Parts: sequence; C-alpha cells; structure tokens
Amino acid sequence: MTAIVRTSWHEAEVLENRRWTERLLSLRLKSEPMPFKAGQFVTLRLPVQVNGETELVAKSYSLINAPHEDEFEIFYNIVPNGKLSNALAVLQTGDHLEVSQPAKGFFVLDEIPHVPDLWLIATGTGLGPYLSILKTAEPWERFRKIVLVHSVPKASELAYADLIAGFAARYPQQFRFISCITREANRDGLETRVTDALTSGALEQFAEAQITPEDSHVMLCGNHNMLNDMKALLAERGMQRHLRHKPGHITTEQYF
Ligand SMILES: Cc1cc2nc3c(=O)[nH]c(=O)nc-3n(C[C@H](O)[C@H](O)[C@H](O)COP(=O)(O)OP(=O)(O)OC[C@H]3O[C@@H](n4cnc5c(N)ncnc54)[C@H](O)[C@@H]3O)c2cc1C
Repeated sequence: MTAIVRTSWHEAEVLENRRWTERLLSLRLKSEPMPFKAGQFVTLRLPVQVNGETELVAKSYSLINAPHEDEFEIFYNIVPNGKLSNALAVLQTGDHLEVSQPAKGFFVLDEIPHVPDLWLIATGTGLGPYLSILKTAEPWERFRKIVLVHSVPKASELAYADLIAGFAARYPQQFRFISCITREANRDGLETRVTDALTSGALEQFAEAQITPEDSHVMLCGNHNMLNDMKALLAERGMQRHLRHKPGHITTEQYF
C-alpha cells in the first residue's frame, strides 16, 4: 500500500535570480531542507496580479541542485504572458515565495532500467533535471556512457556551460555533451534540431555511440513537440516508453 503524503508549503528566500539572457533565468532559494531524488520537481507559489486581482499561482519546476546541496535552484524561462514565470523574473534577493514539499516525480534514475548507455536529451530549460542527476555519484557508477544533448535556438542559451565542462573534464571517456543550436552557427556542436540530428545520424556520430533498444535508455525533457517527435523516431528503432509494469527504453518529463 502506498502512503499518501500531503503537500506542505514552506517559505523560501531568494538568494539570487540570475539572468542568462533576456528570457532565461536561474533562481537560487533558501528554504526548509528536504530529502529528494535528483530529477524531481517542486511547486513554486506566489501571489500574482491578474487583471487587477491578486491570484495565488502555483507551477512545477525541476530542482537542478543535487540532493546533497543545501540551496534549491531552478532554471526557468519567461513565457510570453505567462503568469508565474513573469512574476518569478522580477523577484530580487531577499524576496520570498513558497515551495512545496515533498518534491515529486518519477524522472529519476531509480526508474531507469539497467542498460550500458544513458542518453539525456533536453530542449531549453529541460536541461535542469539532468544537472541534478549528473551532480550525484549514481550515473557515473552505473552507466558505461552518458550523452547529454541540449537543444536551444541560440548559443547564448547554452546555460551552465562551466558545470557541463566540469563533467566532461572529470569523465572524458564516459561523458559526451552535444549542443544543438537551431537558429545560429555552432562551432562546438550541431546546427540542427535534435530530431533531425537523430535522423541524419549526426547525433550518434558526434556521440560516438549508437542508440539501440539493447544498450540504451533515452530520457527526454522539454516541450511536447520534441518529446513526441523523438518518441516516434525511436519507435522506428523498436524503442518504447518505459513503464514499471512494461519495461521500455524511453522516460519523459513534459514541461508544456
Ligand atoms: C513536471 C514539470 C516540471 C517543470 N519544470 C520546469 C522547469 O524546470 N523550468 C521551466 O521553465 N518550466 C518548467 N515547467 C513548466 C512550468 O511549470 C510552467 O508551465 C512555465 O513556467 C509557464 O508558467 P507561466 O505561469 O509563466 O505560464 P502560463 O500562464 O501557465 O502559460 C502560458 C502558456 O505558455 C505555454 N508554456 C508553458 N511553459 C512554457 C515554456 N517553458 N515555454 C514556452 N511556452 C510555455 C503554456 O502551454 C501556456 O499555453 C515544468 C512543468 C512541469 C509539468
């Protein structure tokens, strides 16, 4: 029998609201410590002015800090006319909001079957949960090869480059990072959508690894278009969504 855990709300103080670009930010927060699994998300809640009325708006955000780190961090983008993301973007150091506990979600390594190769594929802020996962020891102990793919429109949106370069320096044989920039030149990666890179073979060539049902598990995080297109392409290779009662090869987290 699964115990029902009630959501509780805890005050959080803004430590930093870092702006990577005009629309891409990271929020560092101090709040009540809690255990969670890398890859899980919390809900942030804030009173927001909507048509002259104050509305309490709550939305989900992946934690990008590792469970052993004291400060919470989320990576988010300003959605045009988005209620909460626009309100988050104007928060300043010392401001307060609410964070839900416990963290939730199944986009975690516990749910991933034992295979040699792990592919972590993100569009935009979908990078976040992978950073949390890669900051822990488990993926490095479990997988032969880890390929992180980050697809963004512009080079300036390749956030956390230093952190990712640190993984590459520490695990040069095991780790491969591939950036896919869709609207600009890319000196260090691919100049195409991740789906096109998979179709053309460029993705696997760059990774020096093959995506196969026998050897690979693919995690997908971001917008529903990328998730659906990737799932369709992977289905052509005999790869299916992974479920606890029906083991497969693909695990997804859909942001919108
Ligand atoms: C499990 C989960 C985890 C999530 N984690 C993150 C995260 O780590 N970082 C993050 O930035 N977002 C994340 N999201 C999305 C987030 O919860 C909000 O939906 C997003 O911030 C928009 O909220 P809003 O109130 O500003 O916009 P709303 O007023 O709710 O939405 C306006 C419109 O924008 C669309 N939209 C929603 N999100 C986006 C987006 N990112 N880009 C473009 N259009 C969008 C919606 O479909 C909607 O039609 C997550 C969602 C889920 C379900």
